[in-house]
Amino acid sequence: MKMYSEADVDATCLDDRQVTILGYGSQGRAHALNLKDSGFNVVMGLRRDGASWAQAEADGLTVMEPAEAVKDAAIVAFLTPDMVQKRLYGAVVDNIAEGAALLFAHGFAVHFKQIEPRRDLDTVLIAPKGPGGLVRRQYEEGHGVPCLVAVHQDASGDALKLALAYAAGIGGARAGVIETTFAEETETDLFGEQAVLCGGATELIVAGFETLVEAGYQPEVAYYEVMHELKLIVDLLHEGGLRKMHKFISDTAAYGDMVSGPRVVDGNSRKQMQAVLRDIQDGTFARNWIAENEAGMPEFKRMMKADLEHPIEKVGAELRSRMDWLEE
Ligand code: NAD
Ligand code: MG
Repeated sequence: MKMYSEADVDATCLDDRQVTILGYGSQGRAHALNLKDSGFNVVMGLRRDGASWAQAEADGLTVMEPAEAVKDAAIVAFLTPDMVQKRLYGAVVDNIAEGAALLFAHGFAVHFKQIEPRRDLDTVLIAPKGPGGLVRRQYEEGHGVPCLVAVHQDASGDALKLALAYAAGIGGARAGVIETTFAEETETDLFGEQAVLCGGATELIVAGFETLVEAGYQPEVAYYEVMHELKLIVDLLHEGGLRKMHKFISDTAAYGDMVSGPRVVDGNSRKQMQAVLRDIQDGTFARNWIAENEAGMPEFKRMMKADLEHPIEKVGAELRSRMDWLEE
């Protein structure tokens, strides 16, 4: 494993050069403000009719239309939703200067060949391992969110150096930047969110809730047990791994964890995880997601509606409204 820290960064390679950021959402806003506060020359490329134009200006950033904003850029960062990047690249590529660099925060568009970068353009990945809000907050507090770095195309011979300078500018080098490839970042990121972080965790919660409610227990009690208290456990895992969790839960909980956990996440679950991973690796998932977008997201909307109309959402909203100490 190769990890870079601030000592490995030569930020002078970006001195007096322009970083253009396309997109002002979760990652875009955090990267732009952190880079600006680090002393870099940042220009935003946004749609004039988009909601974020005024916000970026109010935040003190220079804002132009994407095709204009990329013209003088040494780095063009694509921080729009992954499904928008192909079209946006097509709209700006002719204005990107020879020898500039393309930067991504997730490898999807490049790895799945939605974008095939012009041969003269360095193409790099700086993927923060956390949401944009955290990338901004940690930076302001003098810390950073760890990042992954990868080089897809090194046209200049300095692609890695540029990527590390950008990572340092958003604060990531303070926490460490691990070298990876576009393939590894894309496939592990998709697998993580599908099998464990988002898909796996929510399905586990909902199945636990339904099991208790169908057995006649009160939905409110079930909600506290399987959704609300998850945060306490995740915080312990985040801070100190399995060891810290086991230190803070009761022996009864630890014993139950060890005998019952493997009964729930069993051999079949692992087989399904492998199948999910195969669909990611062979491009099946990407093809389906791209087709879903092209069709106007009918399945996405249907499934989202079902998720948000689940009884656990009604109980949860009611109970959370009484916990005024919860953050928005
Ligand atoms: P987002 O949805 O929060 O923001 C997207 C922004 O892009 C919008 O605010 C808007 O400014 C712009 N945009 C949207 N549609 C557009 C269009 N049609 N044309 C031009 N601009 C448009 O996106 P995000 O979550 O910040 O994701 C950006 C990139 O960062 C993605 O590649 C994503 O995979 C990656 N990433 C996200 C996270 C995360 O936690 N959100 C973490 C790591 C990497
Ligand atoms: Mg789910």
